[in-house]
Amino acid sequence: MDSTAKDLLRSLPSVSALLEHHDVQEWLHGLPRATVVAALQYAIDTARGWILSGEQDHPAHLHDILALAEEELARRSTPSLRKVINATGIVLHTGLGRAPLCESAIEAIADAASGYSNLEFDLATGERGRRSSHVRDLLISLTGAEAATVVNNNAAATLLILQTLAAGREVLVSRGQLIEIGGSFRLPDIMRAGSVTLREVGTTNRTRISDYEKAANDQTAMLMRVHTSNYRIVGFTEEVAIAELAALAHRLGLIALDDLGSGALFDPASFGLPDEPDVRTSIAAGADLVCFSGDKLLGGPQCGIILGKKSLIGRIESNPLMRTYRVGKLTLLALEATLRHYADIDDAMANVPALSMLQAPTEELAARADHVLQRLSKELPGEQFFIGSDVSYAGGGAMPAAEVPTVIVRWHPSFASTAQTIAALRAGEPPVVARIREDAVCFDLRTVCGHDLGLLVDAIIHTASDHSHDDDDEEHHCCDGHSLPVL
Ligand SMILES: *Cc1c(COP(=O)(O)O)cnc(C)c1O
Repeated sequence: MDSTAKDLLRSLPSVSALLEHHDVQEWLHGLPRATVVAALQYAIDTARGWILSGEQDHPAHLHDILALAEEELARRSTPSLRKVINATGIVLHTGLGRAPLCESAIEAIADAASGYSNLEFDLATGERGRRSSHVRDLLISLTGAEAATVVNNNAAATLLILQTLAAGREVLVSRGQLIEIGGSFRLPDIMRAGSVTLREVGTTNRTRISDYEKAANDQTAMLMRVHTSNYRIVGFTEEVAIAELAALAHRLGLIALDDLGSGALFDPASFGLPDEPDVRTSIAAGADLVCFSGDKLLGGPQCGIILGKKSLIGRIESNPLMRTYRVGKLTLLALEATLRHYADIDDAMANVPALSMLQAPTEELAARADHVLQRLSKELPGEQFFIGSDVSYAGGGAMPAAEVPTVIVRWHPSFASTAQTIAALRAGEPPVVARIREDAVCFDLRTVCGHDLGLLVDAIIHTASDHSHDDDDEEHHCCDGHSLPVL
């Protein structure tokens, strides 16, 4: 270390000296001393790092150190898990929490979760009840299934079904359906975890009913169909429909399981949405068990829903593992409120956010874009914004091939690169997650509505005005900013 660096290090104030400063004294009125000390220490350490790396070649200014400490205090008081604005257009973005909850779900949580509830208490008899009973009848009436239960997510549902009904035996699955979801859910691994032997049948692109028939033997417990949620096999292909698979299973005395992934409680085609199997059709086709996620196309909280034959659901519910996957009261409150909208599908389309976002017509998105553009051009006259068209995705393992036409606002920032701007938007409050297309920052308005529209405009204005005050070109460490549909 040369002598200048040593001198610079000596110029750094100590924590105890900073604690005497009148600004810091003010902070101590509202904040715990330990928090303030930690922030001051962080600021001194950061400044020391700059000196040691050669980034700083002048003595530390007291106000710079205090500004660092203040930023750190703000960071420490911001919750880690919090609201973000999703301007990616990916409606069921797993990284951003999949389906936003409907208002009635929020009300149900606010109303019942702040106090006690009849979570496992039968109000009619005064005896201990079962928590899934609160949604069982709704699920049965909406799908035509005999019985229903709810677990933590669809991965848990799949494992629990396999472990309960096929442990030590074989399950037949088409080679074209051995999915991986989001890196950690891989069907062969789930099979192994459930002590089930996976027997692949057919080929990647073509599997016929005779492939299942030939592979079935006295070790076989189940024929499983898995919805290829996040990919499509196209071209010269053949898959066995669930009705045909169920008929074979029943002829052989086996169980037919349908892992639907997304599990729409309506027929997507009749709402102009592309091919996605719906739950009622699968039950009617004879599947003995159907499982799917609560936070994909259903538009509810994270959970896994299992529907099917009463005797099979009964066995699953008595598996000791059931307890390890059970859902909490917040989930059940939100799920029941969401399901209630489905009594009238138009009600669900209007009030379940994931569905209304997916359905929003481009005219409505264009109106949102106009509103955003008008405010931005008034407040940021030096910046270039344009309205454009693009495509949105359902995301979250639903309709992978479906590109839904959308309206975007494109921004060519004058003061920084698109990657720097996207990082600055992410660092804002609330953070905005946008995407880069053709070297512009793009805001897809399909996933920004209501109150979020104003927040988005404010965040853009804030980011632009913050930057225009920066004269020294600060380095931002950021990725390329692309946001692809992630599962
Ligand atoms: C999404 C999905 C899963 C995993 O569901 P989680 O609710 O995320 O655990 C399992 N199977 C299929 C076919 C899926 O699409």
